[in-house]
Order: sequence, then C-alpha cells, then structure tokens
Amino acid sequence: MKVRFAPSPTGYMHVGNCRTLLINWLFARHHGGVFLLRLDDTDRERSEKKYETALLEDIAWLGLEFDAYERQSDRLERYKEGAEMLKASGRLYACYETPEELEFKRRRQISRGMPPIYDREALQLTDAQKTQYEKEGRKPHWRLLLNDAPIDWEDLIRGPIHLEGSKLSDPVLVREDGFPIYTLASVIDDMDMNITHIIRGEDHLTNTAVQIQLWRALGIADGTIKFGHLSLLANADGTELSKRLGSTSIRDFRAQGILPMALNSLLAKLGTSDPVQAYDSLDALVNHFDISKFAKGTPKFSMEDITHMNKKVIHTLPYEKAVEYSHFSSMDSLFWEAVRPNLESLNEVEMWWTICRGTVRTFVANEDKIFIREALASLPQGPWEPMPWKEWLHLLKTVSGRKGKELFMPLRAALTGQDHGPELQGLVELMGPDLARKRLEGALL
Ligand code: GLU
Repeated sequence: MKVRFAPSPTGYMHVGNCRTLLINWLFARHHGGVFLLRLDDTDRERSEKKYETALLEDIAWLGLEFDAYERQSDRLERYKEGAEMLKASGRLYACYETPEELEFKRRRQISRGMPPIYDREALQLTDAQKTQYEKEGRKPHWRLLLNDAPIDWEDLIRGPIHLEGSKLSDPVLVREDGFPIYTLASVIDDMDMNITHIIRGEDHLTNTAVQIQLWRALGIADGTIKFGHLSLLANADGTELSKRLGSTSIRDFRAQGILPMALNSLLAKLGTSDPVQAYDSLDALVNHFDISKFAKGTPKFSMEDITHMNKKVIHTLPYEKAVEYSHFSSMDSLFWEAVRPNLESLNEVEMWWTICRGTVRTFVANEDKIFIREALASLPQGPWEPMPWKEWLHLLKTVSGRKGKELFMPLRAALTGQDHGPELQGLVELMGPDLARKRLEGALL
C-alpha cells in the first residue's frame, strides 16, 4: 500500500491541504503503508523554493513525517517519454489555438447554453495548415483525445461513481513550451511510483475521470489505483469556506499559538462518524483511523472550533512540549502547571510569565481601596512554604465582610492587572511574597 500527498509549491499550506495531507498520512500509518511526499512543481512560473521550504517545515511541525520525497521537476524526461508514447498511439494531438481564441470559443458555447467542452477543431487541421501555423511562429500545445467510454469506480468515500467520457473536455497535457501539465505528470508518477490509493478533495472528481482514461491509454487497468474523494470543508453555515479561513495558512495558525495536535485532532475527525475530541498524540489517531468513517456530507470548519480544540489540547500539554512549541524557554514547570488550565493559545504564555515574574501595572477601584489595604496589611510574611492561602483568605473575609466575586475580583486586579485568568492562588504562589507585596502597593498608588 502506498499513498501520496502531492502539493504544488505555489503558496503556503492551508487548512484544506493540511487535511488531505493528514488523512493520507493516517491512512498509510494505519495500514503500515508507505507515505510519499511529491512536489507537483511543473508550473515553473508559480512554483517557488520558499514555498517548498515552508511546506517541509509545516509538515515537520505537524509531526507527519514522510517515507519518500519526489519532485516532478526532476522527472521531466520521463513525462516527455510518456507524451511521445501517447503521440505514437494517436491519443495526444497538436492544437494551435491561442488563449484568446480558446476563450472566445468558451464564451460562445456558454452563451448558446452549451457546456464549455473543447470542440476538437484541431483534429481537422491538415498537415499543410499545421506547417503554416508553425511558420507563423505558433507552437502547438497537446491534448489527450478522450474516448466516449464510460468511467466508473467505487470511491472509498463517495461509493459508486459514474462519468461519461463524452461529457468531458479533452485536457491539455503538454504546454506550448513543451512542459507537461499536472494531469500528465501526476498520472505517470502515480503509475511509476506504484501508488495504490489516491485520496484527495472532491474538487478532483473530474480530474480522476480524465486520469482514468489516461491510465488506460498508458496500459494501466481500471482498479489498479483506488480513489477516495473527500468532501470539502465549509463554513459553519454550510457555505463555501470563507476566503479568510480557507486561505489562513498553517503557519498563520501556528503564529496564533495553535498547536499541531489541535489541528490534527480536529482535521482527522471532521466529516467522520467519530466524535471530535482532543488527542494528545498521533498514535491514537492512527489506531482509530478508518477511511470508511468519512461521509459524503459537508464538514464544517470554523475558527471557534479550532480555538476550542486548541484550549483542550493545551490543558493536557506536558511541560516539555509546551517549551518546545511556545519557544518561550524561560518558563519552568511549576509556572506551566499553574497557567495551563486557563490558556487558549500558547501566545498567552509570555503575558502570564510577566504577570507572575515581571513588571506589570495593576489597579484598584476607589471603592476597593480599603479592602486592598487590608489585604496588604494581612499578606503573610515570607518565605512561603507553602503560602498559607486559606488562612489569608479566611482572615480577609472576616475583616472585610466580603466573599465571592466582591473579594476575588479586586484582589485579582490588584495582584495581576487582569480581570480573569488562572487560579489566583497558583499565580500568587509563583509571584512569591515580595512581588505580591509590590503589586498590592503598586495598585494603591
Ligand atoms: N497538485 C495537486 C493539488 O494540489 C495534486 C492533486 C492530486 O492529489 O493529484 O491539487
């Protein structure tokens, strides 16, 4: 068993691609198969080295290591060979239309209520006409001659699929400059690299139909490769994933303090019959993985979902991992244990560190000043081993007559400068007697 993730390095990886990556990886790991990362980089104008580098970084950050790595740009000779084979068998034909001419045809078809399928005008060209075009400096692009044969497959996710070759447009496989187009390169690679299962988005359904005809033309029998087409993620209201969310890159999420296991946990289960829950390692996801649990329905994705999942993952994140992911190496494990239950994002760590160990402005409302003076006067002397928290609170309740919110809110504001946060006791213990005293004094200024 061998699967591949085949991104084009023309942009940063976003959530839709990340889901395809993860599901292929889980499929391979669950079945003990091989996971290939293949760079679809035949589009020379749009592919960039920086996107390739970013992709490798993102994959490593997600923890989804691959077993093999290929680049289409290293295999151009092989695609030429494939194209020559198709020319020889009469399945690849030369076309000379300019992009403007093609666009004109397309518009005319649409205005007549016809599907914009290439009309195969080039098949009527005589040798003399072709020579004339070449003399004029036109270079041909090459299309695959589809046949009318029906195309059927049993999709791993969508069940039986049936498409008619006659309703599809002959795809361009080789550009004017001789470079192969993704469709050709991908089919030759999947064949040469012995890919057994192709799992990708449902936006590739028509591609699959075309590619099945192309495999047939290259001598590969139907059924050699199995297909699964994942339903695309949508907004919470079912509409197409918003531009903003759809184009949020994995590195944007990372910069927002989102953890890899939050993305992995959510994306592995969206659109399946399993409950969505936080997983602390990929192993559990691998064990539970089952492609048949993916449904045809549209999975919903929202920023709230990912933030919520992130919170859950953070709440069980061990100290060593927190240091690794937050890049905030100054924190110690006591601090982490104290603030962890209240974090939504790892980006908040530094703020809480400053609150517990650094300098912050704190405040107190006029009506709470007397109370905070009492708190300062009764603050237990150090060293605290441990801090007599209960006794202090008991004393404060007695002298002030306050309890609940009335007691905690001003105390929290005077000690941390915040109106919310982790358990105050833990924070005060991290501050220690001197800093706690300074804070209460500072609030009264
Ligand atoms: N490079 C293609 C894409 O990113 C790959 C599609 C496929 O999996 O064949 O959409």
